[in-house]
Amino acid sequence: MKVSERTKVIKPAVTLAIAAKAQKLREQGVDLVNFSAGEPDFDTPEHIKEAAIQALRKGMTKYTDVRGIEPLREAIVEKYQHDYGLSYTKEEVLVSCGGKHALYNVFQAILDQGDEVIIPSPYWVSYQDMVLLCDAVPRILPTKEENGFRITPAELQAALTPRTRAFILNSPSNPTGAAYDREDLAALSRVLEPHECLIFSDDIYEKIVYDEFSFYSIVTINPKLRERTIIFNSVSKTYAMTGWRIGYAIGLAPVISAAAKIQSQSTSNPTSIAQAAALEALRGPQDKVAEMVREFQKRRDAIVKNLNAMEGIRCFNPQGAFYVFPNIRPLLGKKAKGKKIESACDLAEFLLEEAQVAAVPGEDFGSAENIRFTYATSLKEVEKGCERIEAAIKKLE
Ligand code: PMP
Ligand code: GLU
Repeated sequence: MKVSERTKVIKPAVTLAIAAKAQKLREQGVDLVNFSAGEPDFDTPEHIKEAAIQALRKGMTKYTDVRGIEPLREAIVEKYQHDYGLSYTKEEVLVSCGGKHALYNVFQAILDQGDEVIIPSPYWVSYQDMVLLCDAVPRILPTKEENGFRITPAELQAALTPRTRAFILNSPSNPTGAAYDREDLAALSRVLEPHECLIFSDDIYEKIVYDEFSFYSIVTINPKLRERTIIFNSVSKTYAMTGWRIGYAIGLAPVISAAAKIQSQSTSNPTSIAQAAALEALRGPQDKVAEMVREFQKRRDAIVKNLNAMEGIRCFNPQGAFYVFPNIRPLLGKKAKGKKIESACDLAEFLLEEAQVAAVPGEDFGSAENIRFTYATSLKEVEKGCERIEAAIKKLE
């Protein structure tokens, strides 16, 4: 059967593929530690679930406005005013089936063949393939671990060309957990200001930050960039709502309208009762969020400490999100049961077989020397997983 050429230039999302494999192994009775897909292990808070139940009971079971129900778009507008002092209108908001879908719609709405998108690396797996699906060109811009996995203003300056249509800013980042502080954003914004490219600010981990780190939107730092920035966000991570599939894009009305047109011809509105739940997530009590972040921080502290104590592993301490992306270069070239570990992929396979620990190899995030573990799982599992990893890598020779 012939399939389109388009599908041949992309890969399935490796994060979801490994998570599915891990789930299957668990169902087969394997005692697996799952450090694969990044989704909070916490249940969605009760008041949010209740809002969906009430919506269902009230018969909110019909199509809604393609862009999302008005109260939800208004709640998003209020959130940005409240959190960052940014003024948007509800015409500048599109609610989609997850942040991923919001990104996809906007990429489709903005990019033409040959347009370039700067993607700092390591990057989240889907950006590159979404750009390729638009016949556009991903321009990967490597960051350095010694710079905290953040691109420097000079690196950004050198990468911008007249063909650059968009620059992706994902802070805190998946997979490194690196985040740009106020000064970093100000410096990048000075480079971006004279250019015409759009800024895609993927703020999905905005609330999951640690220690003294404060999240800022680049638009607050430099209001001149408001007209050129599209903000992406989602309820998935902040409210433990990955399965509900509600995310959104905020930006200039013409961009949002073009993206809404694409949504109207593909999925129509996101699920009605999930929108009711998202509304409650944004407008209801926020104490659960802080509680979850405190837990994530304990896990981050534990996983970073444990990994750094292992020979052959060096782990950057992330400021946010719930991933670590340790460097495993010294382990490459070693052997296990006569088989050579030549790549992060081989190491992930080895950890799955030898230690029953599921992780995502760095290749699909743009680095063959790193591997990603998510600590969006209990502290007990984090400790257990680390013990297993340590025992397994001791067997490498
Ligand atoms: N952006 C980043 C950086 C992510 O890690 C993810 C993965 N969850 C998304 C966007 C999309 O998330 P969702 O579709 O669940 O809102
Ligand atoms: N974003 C999460 C991750 O990277 C969930 C899976 C996905 O959407 O890629 O693990």
